[in-house]
Amino acid sequence: MPVTIAIVGAGPSGFYAAEALAKSASDCRIDIIERLPAPYGLIRYGVAPDHEKTKNVTRSFDRTAGHERVGYYGNVEIGRDLTLDELRGLYDAVVIATGAPLDRALGVPGDDKIGVFGAAAFVGWYNGHPDFRDLAPDLSIGSVAIIGNGNVALDVARILAKTPEELATTDLPDYAVAALRAASVAELHVFGRRGPVEAKWANVELREMGGLADCLPVIDPAQLPERIVYDLSERDRRLREKNLATLRDFAGVEAGTRRKRLYFSFYAKPLEVLGGERVEALRLERTRVEAGRAVGTGETFEVPCGLVVSSIGYCAEPIEGLPFDEGAGAVINRDGRVAEGLYVIGWAKRGPIGVISSNKPDGVTLARQIAGDFGPGKKPGGPALEKLLAGRGARWIGFADWKTIDAAEVATAPPGAPRRKLIRVDDMLAVLEPTARPPGEAG
Ligand SMILES: Cc1cc2nc3c(=O)[nH]c(=O)nc-3n(C[C@H](O)[C@H](O)[C@H](O)COP(=O)(O)OP(=O)(O)OC[C@H]3O[C@@H](n4cnc5c(N)ncnc54)[C@H](O)[C@@H]3O)c2cc1C
Repeated sequence: MPVTIAIVGAGPSGFYAAEALAKSASDCRIDIIERLPAPYGLIRYGVAPDHEKTKNVTRSFDRTAGHERVGYYGNVEIGRDLTLDELRGLYDAVVIATGAPLDRALGVPGDDKIGVFGAAAFVGWYNGHPDFRDLAPDLSIGSVAIIGNGNVALDVARILAKTPEELATTDLPDYAVAALRAASVAELHVFGRRGPVEAKWANVELREMGGLADCLPVIDPAQLPERIVYDLSERDRRLREKNLATLRDFAGVEAGTRRKRLYFSFYAKPLEVLGGERVEALRLERTRVEAGRAVGTGETFEVPCGLVVSSIGYCAEPIEGLPFDEGAGAVINRDGRVAEGLYVIGWAKRGPIGVISSNKPDGVTLARQIAGDFGPGKKPGGPALEKLLAGRGARWIGFADWKTIDAAEVATAPPGAPRRKLIRVDDMLAVLEPTARPPGEAG
């Protein structure tokens, strides 16, 4: 009997693992189980809509899904449709690839006010994630504070800074297009607790901020150090020097006709979100960096804003039966091993670190571990899963079904856009009905 392997989560880590396992010498059968009908995880629901090319990697995931050893169960959530223990009873090996979908709380007084969002929620909203479709952020405001100095913070700033024309060829859902079109945001503030040298941007993402049609990046040259004093690897030093050079370039950019301003503000630690029910301002403390850490100076200042998006990290979601490290926001593991027959990969294993391809080595390690851990398989896998789901009236879809949904999205794309995403799970499933009505309201 082949070893039966269930991979929970159809994001990059899940697909890379399925690919490595399918190509391995082990006699195995792999099923990918995904809570949404749509696969690809953060590639569909995280990667910025104006970075369409980044999503091309899904073509290789589609090839993996078509492999004879690989199956797909979309719209099946572990913890909702069946428990982890039940799944472990059906498969020889279970691999957790559920990512890190939760926002880390800002953790300052007032962070529960209306208008304060974590980046996972805000990005999920503009990317049409079913969980965040109804977020309805009020963008009829003048100023936005974005907290964090990573690529996600830049994504959020860029989407809010771009003109409708610049966003016309994206797969932004209709409701987000309408909200962004009606938005009155004139000032964006990107705050970092530490300095420009410590910021973790990819240079290509940072450079993009200098080429926006209607938004000027603004930086106080006094915040840019002359040189980098840290001991860094050659690669890290080059990247940070590039980023410093880009920021210096920003300091000299002509405003031209650009109306919006994007202020890069370093050495600034959020202390409190101010306002009544809604956010009205952010109070911050000036910091200095000592031995790589931000240390408060006691000097405070306030910035008026009607929206706060904090992009300070993500954590994995605990699942019953899975040992969880609250501090790290990840599943407790030793090199991916959690318990006998239970493994973890991707962001659920390592926390929210790295780009799409960073998840590939986890799959290779996993395939090696599984090859060493198992003789012939003992558990039935897919057929038993289907029986259990059918007994519960749960509706799952296969990969061909997903491709039907995909085709419906592409067929209804607005001119120039790659697709019109179906947002609600019911709308995705309705495409598969024998008497399929045309895909419903897209947003
Ligand atoms: C906003 C944002 C933008 C990014 N942009 C880029 C970029 O431009 N380029 C780049 O290279 N990297 C980018 N990244 C990083 C990249 O997205 C991650 O490295 C990668 O997605 C992590 O893969 P993963 O499979 O571990 O998790 P995920 O991509 O999160 O996939 C996890 C999957 O598991 C499913 N799942 C969760 N819980 C369950 C459950 N209980 N049962 C069944 N299924 C479940 C989820 O629905 C999801 O499909 C970005 C990340 C973020 C947050």
